[in-house]
Amino acid sequence: MPGVSTRKVEHLLIGGGLASANCARWLRESGAEGEILLVGREPDPPYNRPPCSKGYLQGIESREDTYFRPNEWWEKQRIDLRTRTSVTRLDTAAKEATLSSREVVAYDTALLATGANVRRLNVDGCELEGIHYLRALGNADAIRADAAGKRVVLIGGSYIGCEVAASLTLLGSSCTIVMQEAVTLQRGFGKRAGRFFQERLVEHGVSIHGEDELERFEGADGRVGAVVTRGGLRLEADAVVIGAGVNPDTTLARAAGLQLDEERGGIACDGTLRTSAPGVWAAGDVAAYDSVVHGRPIRVEHWDVAFNHGKTAALNMLGREQPHTEVPYFFSDFADWASLEYVGPAQGWDEEIVRGSLDDGSFSVWYLKDGRVLGALSVGRSDDLDHARRLIVDGRALGDGRAALGDADAELEGIGC
Ligand SMILES: Cc1cc2nc3c(=O)[nH]c(=O)nc-3n(C[C@H](O)[C@H](O)[C@H](O)COP(=O)(O)OP(=O)(O)OC[C@H]3O[C@@H](n4cnc5c(N)ncnc54)[C@H](O)[C@@H]3O)c2cc1C
Repeated sequence: MPGVSTRKVEHLLIGGGLASANCARWLRESGAEGEILLVGREPDPPYNRPPCSKGYLQGIESREDTYFRPNEWWEKQRIDLRTRTSVTRLDTAAKEATLSSREVVAYDTALLATGANVRRLNVDGCELEGIHYLRALGNADAIRADAAGKRVVLIGGSYIGCEVAASLTLLGSSCTIVMQEAVTLQRGFGKRAGRFFQERLVEHGVSIHGEDELERFEGADGRVGAVVTRGGLRLEADAVVIGAGVNPDTTLARAAGLQLDEERGGIACDGTLRTSAPGVWAAGDVAAYDSVVHGRPIRVEHWDVAFNHGKTAALNMLGREQPHTEVPYFFSDFADWASLEYVGPAQGWDEEIVRGSLDDGSFSVWYLKDGRVLGALSVGRSDDLDHARRLIVDGRALGDGRAALGDADAELEGIGC
């Protein structure tokens, strides 16, 4: 019956992904004694999504390998993990949530970590069989079953498109990427670094069509057979994987009347991840937070951010009032052909400085605006990222220090001090 609490918990965590899982962990490890209820709508317990386009898709990691913690851990930690269950309504004035099981749960503090959903492309033929999106383990199962060893067209030249092209190539597929950008990963890293990754894909047999766009799918007997592009290409395809970005899932937050960040498309939070509703925090892909590091609101869709947000939110749900001070970090692998790490995010940079050698495959690219470091990409030079983190937090223009960034023999310790 609506409005009647059938249960009371201290901490209600909404969403069954990484941010919620790590929040549950840190609540317990930081001394929370009361009941913790984690509600997620997927069939699996919280798991790491990165293997969905990498090791799990390739068949070298098991489903259990992807899990945040083994199944017995949840019980040991006295965390009530509810899978296959959605929170359908949040009443932030009454501090109550309604579950798809029809239970009403009262809470003292709540976390909204509802993540993101894939952006679907609504073009002619999009209903045909053999067209896939990738967000969850089940999608990876379907892609492996349907696309391994076949002709596959990937729509999108960012992480998902590039990672899946690499993984499926290992499984014997013949892969072609169609993308709007001139070179892969250009939007995040610029043309120079993007070209480096594109060359790794091409030398392993991936075909790439840049500055083009999906127009429609063609097929027969209900199944996709070809991708037609605006530029006039007709690419035969036994299967298609679309990696066209994600939309943060603000459905519940919007219905509950929480303040949203329309510009970044997430739930608006302060520097401690607190939302506009009393006792409610947000974390992970859905959280647009006022970053004390960047001096502006940001929203980031990366594993490490969701992981660290979970910790910050947990501490603040226990009353610590701690701002989130981690510099966002990201990693990606394309089979074993190339790996990258990145800190930032850089937005609107006006200068790129390369340290090391792209030809040798060991370099970092530094993204600056008005002489200030906004971000850095590393391929085989992880140590550079520690300096980049320091300089991003410092936020001052480097002046002469910029020359040292471009000189792989120069020490970086003294720069920016
Ligand atoms: C294929 C793939 C590969 C990736 N690879 C990388 C990588 O290499 N490096 C990197 O840094 N990042 C990577 N990412 C991104 C990273 O996985 C995400 O940033 C991270 O998963 C975000 O975690 P989250 O907890 O915020 O959201 P999610 O993982 O999306 O979890 C949110 C969960 O909440 C559930 N939910 C939503 N609404 C409700 C509701 N009302 N009730 C109950 N449950 C609800 C959703 O079903 C979902 O299970 C990858 C992502 C994907 C999909």
